[in-house]
Amino acid sequence: MKKILSVLLSLTFIINIFALFGTSTIEVQAADYAATLRSKGFPESYIDDLVKLHKKYPNWIFEPLKTNLDFHAAVNGERKNHSNQLIEKSSGTSTSMYCDCSQCKKNGQYVIQEASNWVSASEKAVEYYLDPRNFLNEKEIFQFESTKYNGTQTQSGVESILNGTWMHNSKISYKDTTGASRTLTITYSDSIMAAASRNGMSSYYLASKIRQEVGGTKPTAGGASGTNKTYPGIFNYYNIGAYTGALDGLKWASTSNATAAGTGYYTNCQCRVREKATTSSKELVMLPANTKVTYKSTTAKQSDGHIWYQISVTYNNKSYTGYIRTDLVDKKTTTAKPDTYNRPWTSPHISIVNGAKYIAQNYKTQFTGYLQKFNVNPESGTLHTHEYMANVAAAASESRTTYTAYSNAGILGITKTFSIPVFKNMPDDDNSSTTTNPPTTTTKPSQPTTLPCVTGLKATGSDTKQINLTWNKVSGATGYRVDIMKNGKYVKYATTKSNKISVTGLNSFQEYTFRVKAYQTKSNNTIWGKYWVGVTYGTRARRISGFKATGSNNSAVYLAWNKNTRATGYRIYKYDPKTKKDTLYKDIKGANNTTLKVSGLKNNTKYYFKIQAYYTVNGRTYWSYRTNAITTATKYNMVTLNSAKSNSKKKITVKWNKAIYNCSGYQVMWSTTKNFSSNYLTVNVNGRNSLSTTLNTAQSGKRYYVRVRAYKTVNGKKTYCSWSGVKSVVVK
Ligand SMILES: [Zn+2]
Repeated sequence: MKKILSVLLSLTFIINIFALFGTSTIEVQAADYAATLRSKGFPESYIDDLVKLHKKYPNWIFEPLKTNLDFHAAVNGERKNHSNQLIEKSSGTSTSMYCDCSQCKKNGQYVIQEASNWVSASEKAVEYYLDPRNFLNEKEIFQFESTKYNGTQTQSGVESILNGTWMHNSKISYKDTTGASRTLTITYSDSIMAAASRNGMSSYYLASKIRQEVGGTKPTAGGASGTNKTYPGIFNYYNIGAYTGALDGLKWASTSNATAAGTGYYTNCQCRVREKATTSSKELVMLPANTKVTYKSTTAKQSDGHIWYQISVTYNNKSYTGYIRTDLVDKKTTTAKPDTYNRPWTSPHISIVNGAKYIAQNYKTQFTGYLQKFNVNPESGTLHTHEYMANVAAAASESRTTYTAYSNAGILGITKTFSIPVFKNMPDDDNSSTTTNPPTTTTKPSQPTTLPCVTGLKATGSDTKQINLTWNKVSGATGYRVDIMKNGKYVKYATTKSNKISVTGLNSFQEYTFRVKAYQTKSNNTIWGKYWVGVTYGTRARRISGFKATGSNNSAVYLAWNKNTRATGYRIYKYDPKTKKDTLYKDIKGANNTTLKVSGLKNNTKYYFKIQAYYTVNGRTYWSYRTNAITTATKYNMVTLNSAKSNSKKKITVKWNKAIYNCSGYQVMWSTTKNFSSNYLTVNVNGRNSLSTTLNTAQSGKRYYVRVRAYKTVNGKKTYCSWSGVKSVVVK
């Protein structure tokens, strides 16, 4: 046990490290883990339960086994013969679990298919046990545990599984075929470890299987101790071949298919033994290929054109003497062949090791308890047949045994791989009465058959990946089930005891639709209320990234930002740092419009802007978070207009300040219109240091507008800077 203890200690240590990061980290990890499960191919209806298991058992590994089978086709395949799926008839089981077709229920009585109270399981029962989603809990998950060899499994773990049986920490002891007592030098766990490593099987699986089949405080089960009167000294620890009971298994374990070396005559195809040496003679028996026959004599060529052997043969416990065409029989020399599984099994060790070989070879593609019961692995080539047991509940029941054994051994948390089947068109679990409720007990008449409908479902807000829902409490409800619509179909999101939930793991700027119903669980029976359907709400988006000023002049700034592909548009706000208020400046439609010129600004002035994206669908709008304010500024004017005065008739004297860069001169302009659009005149003044001029105008007593700009002459060509501000004057 020391080794296990140290594994557990180091596990605790890892968990504690995670705990240091706090709750939010764990939530992020849960969301990440859900995403991992989705990317592995688990459908949405598996996710929540597996995330919960992962939280408790972080070392467990879940893999989807994609059957590519339609779920209902699989149910029908499993029920091709109704007697392949049996259920124990008992007072605690609802009769809806028993098949009542005309083959399975006759004269008002369920037909007993196997001793002494096993009857055919109903379609509903098979649907329940075939649907893996009904077993994604810590006790029943082990039916999906891989039976393949795993080096992490220890002998002390095996001993823990055997604890409470006569095999625990004990040397193998038994009665041989002569009735004599024998004790081996190896223990049962030695034998199981050897069986596991030789055959590539999980030693825990083998130990659990043995415990399930023959375990007890004493070796009283058939095939455990060699004391069966019909098959003394014969052992079958896995009950292989025990189709109708342990006796079948012992018969199988005592039957060898070994062949001795020798020369003889064998059929080379399927062929007929005839009464006389002619093809028109009566057929005595049809033999399969490779049947050994005893040669007696050879005929001459007959009128049918063939030469015939006279032979005798024993087939299916009957003896025949007759004729076979010589072309259908070969004389062969055979070598001795041992039994495929070293039968007869005359000691527990032989049974344990060779039984493991049998399981490994015959259930290669059925490497979980579930697959041994329900052969739905597309690689098996024998879908829905070749099943280890008829009991429809066997895999679930063995899983609970395994859980108890692991739990007692303290090894529940160690690394284990679970291979969980996934079907196409799995029943939409909204029809809970047929699929998700354990249909094991009848509803007591005194209980209500339904709960009230949930009311008042609404979204109270959202975040970038999350929508918060609340609804009114339903009296008597144990909890609620929340569904989310994906690809036009509702799938289960979660169940919760509370009347609110945060639905996480969503995409930003997207609408989602939800429904919620209540349930009540009383003594293993669950009843459901009706859904409150169709509440739709959208997620927000993060802040727009890359928001910045890309340039400016003396009266405008240029803004740009990164695109949000799902945005309907953007809103630009001017921010005032004194009042700390945002004022909407512009609404820009279209996700692709990611630049803006803000014009009409004062020169040499700081400006602050924010941006927010929005997403509008069906008349509802969702917002991204607003960015923090960015700061930018307009540039200085190149030239500042100082004064414009009229000191004499029809004249304006204009003065300006020297340009702040090395210009060639100035252009001065007047106009009778404020925007200089008509009735204007321009005058050039050469030299950077010429800072005034007097303009002639056309009319006196009229208001004129004046402005100035600098220019640079390069190779005879003038380049102008931006205009100064404007001054106006009424001319004398
Ligand atoms: Zn039936």
